Amino acid sequence: MKIAICPGSFDPVTLGHIDIIERAAELFDKVIVLVMTNSEKHALFSLEERVELLKKCVKKKNVEIDTYDGLLVNYAKKTGAVAIVKGLRAVSDFEYEFQQALTNKSLLPEIETVFLTAKGVNMFLSSSMVKEVCRLDGDISRFVPQEILDEVVLRCKGEINND
Ligand code: ADP
Repeated sequence: MKIAICPGSFDPVTLGHIDIIERAAELFDKVIVLVMTNSEKHALFSLEERVELLKKCVKKKNVEIDTYDGLLVNYAKKTGAVAIVKGLRAVSDFEYEFQQALTNKSLLPEIETVFLTAKGVNMFLSSSMVKEVCRLDGDISRFVPQEILDEVVLRCKGEINND
């Protein structure tokens, strides 16, 4: 069975993430969406909340959601994953992603990083952009899955807090 990992912060999951996850699920037997802590970013949603949000919108049967706060290649080794799937939005994503892919390859030569190009409509979409637009009262309904829209709006506007 060919297993792929889609890692990220997913704070919160956007339609850009969903597109990459669903396309990866067509290419591999099993996809693990791995919610990770990014030490450089202060998360709006807790790890558990991000998992719950993903569970509400990921419908494919061969997709699982998990969390990990260690080194990605160690998780890949543990699960027997053969690939890491990443979405590329623009040239600006490339340098960082290329460096990550080479680092992972040197740590675990068996692992491949597969880049899927973002859909045109999602090229500008990021979790940070969604949070900023929503905080400033913009409409984010075209950016996040319908199933989690209300929850994301309430949190971004500070009407619910996570502590
Ligand atoms: P990180 O905090 O590690 O950058 P993100 O949650 O922002 O993680 O993104 C996780 C993955 O989803 C990354 O591979 C990123 O390139 C991809 N991604 C994010 N937004 C989009 C989008 N709009 N279209 C396609 N891929 C995306």
